[in-house]
Amino acid sequence: MNNFAYARASDVADAVRRIAADPAAKFIAGGTNLIDLMKESVEHPTQLIDISRLPLATVEATRDGGLRIGALVPNSDLAYHPQIEARYPLLASAILAGASQQLRNMASTGGNLLQRTRCSYFYDTTTPCNKRAPGSGCSAIDGFSRNHAILGTSEHCIATHPSDMCVALAALEARVLATGKDGERSIAFADFHRLPGDTPHVDSNLRADEIITAVELPPRGFAHNHSYLKIRDRLSYAFALVSVAAGLDLEGGTIREARLALGGVAHKPWRDRDAEAQLSGAPATQESFLRAAETVLRHARGFGHNDFKIELARRAIVRALTQAARGTPQSQADKRIR
Ligand SMILES: Cc1cc2nc3c(=O)[nH]c(=O)nc-3n(C[C@H](O)[C@H](O)[C@H](O)COP(=O)(O)OP(=O)(O)OC[C@H]3O[C@@H](n4cnc5c(N)ncnc54)[C@H](O)[C@@H]3O)c2cc1C
Ligand code: SF4
Repeated sequence: MNNFAYARASDVADAVRRIAADPAAKFIAGGTNLIDLMKESVEHPTQLIDISRLPLATVEATRDGGLRIGALVPNSDLAYHPQIEARYPLLASAILAGASQQLRNMASTGGNLLQRTRCSYFYDTTTPCNKRAPGSGCSAIDGFSRNHAILGTSEHCIATHPSDMCVALAALEARVLATGKDGERSIAFADFHRLPGDTPHVDSNLRADEIITAVELPPRGFAHNHSYLKIRDRLSYAFALVSVAAGLDLEGGTIREARLALGGVAHKPWRDRDAEAQLSGAPATQESFLRAAETVLRHARGFGHNDFKIELARRAIVRALTQAARGTPQSQADKRIR
């Protein structure tokens, strides 16, 4: 039995005060990841600070024409929000590609960003794992690595970030708003999650005393030419082997601007500015897409069981960009199930 205290935060300032006073405490929002981790004895918070009733569940327009999504907006409400469906369908499709309807009803925007890896050794407390027990070693590198990373790995960890929503948020250049003891700050999405390096136990650059209050979307949503392509073992209720979020701004047959982010391949949503730069000004053809895929994967490295991901990612990038260019995004089958 692991004892822990429970407290309900009355407002954001109270939540920050409570987390700053107890470094071993954790916020709980939807609980869909944290409770599992506690049951599996992977996480042992001394206190759960319940933030689920804070007034952070609205989607509002920002002054620059974008949207501010409260940290407690449930994933399902966000995917079906009329502004998201119309202006940011890439984000709607990515959310609907994740988990199940029941989970999306509970899962929050903030919690989705901070969900932890699905590396099976991380969940198995009988095995060494640098993320769970720093310094103990990495069981995956010489073990079963089928679901693991091919980009940005380190000798200490080859885990992937499991979120679908975050891949779209990376491509859209969202920002994360966080409040801590020193006030509010805005973090570029590319700087929010970390690569494992020699501190794989630290997933993000959120400070210990900070709470995520919102995610902000810039005005451009690439609504006409986008695609979220998720390749997985089953058609639903499975994490990505490889996923691709693509957004194109086209003029005739030429790409004015491209956004490309990958999931299932690295410790964070993977964006490659060189590949995007290569696409801008190029014709929207298979050749251009293949060249961009080669650039994204130029430093890719497999660990045996996951070698297939390199070719899978290459093909998924080309297919997602082709779908985006044609204006035929992946069908959103889940949308029929409300
Ligand atoms: C069976 C299963 C299948 C799944 N499949 C997918 C999938 O295919 N794709 C996918 O993307 N996801 C998938 N998920 C993950 C799911 O999306 C996440 O569990 C969910 O988004 C987490 O949100 P939550 O609100 O429940 O977080 P919680 O479990 O409440 O919290 C998660 C972490 O975030 C922290 N936290 C929460 N909110 C805040 C905040 N505002 N500020 C600071 N810290 C905060 C908590 O302290 C905790 O560390 C799956 C989950 C399950 C159980
Ligand atoms: S890949 Fe990372 S999470 Fe998985 S066993 Fe290695 S250190 Fe742990």
